[in-house]
Amino acid sequence: MERYDLVVIGSGPAGEKGAAQAAYFGKRVALLERAPHVGGAGVNTGTIPSKTLRESALYFSGLAQRGLYGIDYTVKPDLTVQDFMFREHEVVRTLREVVRENIARHRIDLVHGQGAFEDAHTVRVTRAEGGTLRLHGDVILVATGSVPSRGREAAVEDPRIYDSDTILEMPRLPQRLAVIGAGVIGCEYATIFAALGIRVTLIDGRDRLLPFLDAEIADRLRLQMQALGIEVRLAERLTGIAPAPDIVRLGLADGTAVEADSVLVAAGRLGNTGTLGLERLGVAVGERGHIPVNEHYQTAVPHVYAAGDVIGFPALAATSMEQARVAMCHAFDLKYKTRVAPVFPLAIYTIPEIAMAGETEETCRAKGIDCCVGRAPYRQNARGQIVGDLAGLVKLVFRFPDKTLLGVHVLGEAASELVHVGLMVLQAGGTIDTFINAVFNYPTLGDAYKYAAYDGLGNLQRRQTG
Ligand SMILES: Cc1cc2nc3c(=O)[nH]c(=O)nc-3n(C[C@H](O)[C@H](O)[C@H](O)COP(=O)(O)OP(=O)(O)OC[C@H]3O[C@@H](n4cnc5c(N)ncnc54)[C@H](O)[C@@H]3O)c2cc1C
Repeated sequence: MERYDLVVIGSGPAGEKGAAQAAYFGKRVALLERAPHVGGAGVNTGTIPSKTLRESALYFSGLAQRGLYGIDYTVKPDLTVQDFMFREHEVVRTLREVVRENIARHRIDLVHGQGAFEDAHTVRVTRAEGGTLRLHGDVILVATGSVPSRGREAAVEDPRIYDSDTILEMPRLPQRLAVIGAGVIGCEYATIFAALGIRVTLIDGRDRLLPFLDAEIADRLRLQMQALGIEVRLAERLTGIAPAPDIVRLGLADGTAVEADSVLVAAGRLGNTGTLGLERLGVAVGERGHIPVNEHYQTAVPHVYAAGDVIGFPALAATSMEQARVAMCHAFDLKYKTRVAPVFPLAIYTIPEIAMAGETEETCRAKGIDCCVGRAPYRQNARGQIVGDLAGLVKLVFRFPDKTLLGVHVLGEAASELVHVGLMVLQAGGTIDTFINAVFNYPTLGDAYKYAAYDGLGNLQRRQTG
């Protein structure tokens, strides 16, 4: 049996970074991956494919340029799924290589096969090419990620019904697409396909899009989705899917039906723990297959750690990587990092893009925090005018009356990048005066922070003077 300081199960963002962290500090590391390619959902089926398809949709639709140059851009009429997927294949292929190089550079032993616990220190690997081997790990990191969940109503087998993994194998672009589930993945794909001119119906049982967003931003997203031609049907419960020869019919609880050529089920994800043999360790998983961990990412067995989607919320690539690093720092007493930063950014790559960090107006209210807001619309920003994004907005939420920044919300071009400016101030515990006193490049979207802060200052003074 091969002996390692660390055995990592899964080569997604959590597994790769956890393995690299330990190997960087001289530990002997084995990294197991059961899929043919390294990179997990982050590279192969989730983050990178969907973000690349978003860029492809913007390119083929000319959406970002529509109305700017006096030329009428429309979607290329004979656009094929091969055209649409071309760049996604290229980017995924390249990033798999980047992960593979990182693994090699850190002298990590990459083992292809399915891992399962034999006991608390032994992982049995069933190799893809046949045969098994056993690896001993002083420490074991479970980073097996998540799998799409279909939910009972959508558990119908039909080649026209996809989940977020199989959508990447769609043989042709449909004319009408129904998306079940208006979570992050559902909203992102709904806008991507709508940009291509596909008639999209987005269905969700909740009465708000993305309830964790600041309500003002969520409302603006809904309007933008409708402007893209998406039929947004909220507070609608799916009762069943009936595939017919040339149509798929979705029944809703209000008695109506939605007809589509294809369906994307984006009904959440489950922790990928089914075949790990965790019961042999006495590690119980939650209802959605997630592994409970403490603040150091230790499971009920102290030398067995878990990080990434397999432990549940927030299930993002960036937080998965950081959790794994923190876990390995604890496991090998590396000292330099002790926790994942409590404030982290969220980005939703819809069209338009959204990003946030910290509190919303609603969470402030729920926590009894007295807050004020400041807004800067992109249409009043020089760069916003240049790029033609007139619906964008930077919104700051800050504490009354001491101006401490509590939350930052951006909708529009480059939101996922812009949010980092606010994130740094949040992390430093700064006030909106930080933006007032800083000089921003001009013309930039970042400059909107300054004007959102001025607007906030005005709102604050109006409140103070009655
Ligand atoms: C459509 C979509 C879009 C997304 N967009 C974003 C985004 O824009 N930004 C963002 O931050 N996050 C995004 N995410 C989430 C992000 O992809 C995940 O949070 C991230 O990939 C989780 O990393 P992980 O390492 O925990 O798991 P994964 O990436 O799922 O990797 C787990 C790996 O473990 C392997 N594995 C599982 N079981 C075993 C076993 N028994 N033996 C060996 N190997 C095993 C799997 O094959 C897989 O390679 C998106 C997800 C989806 C589905």
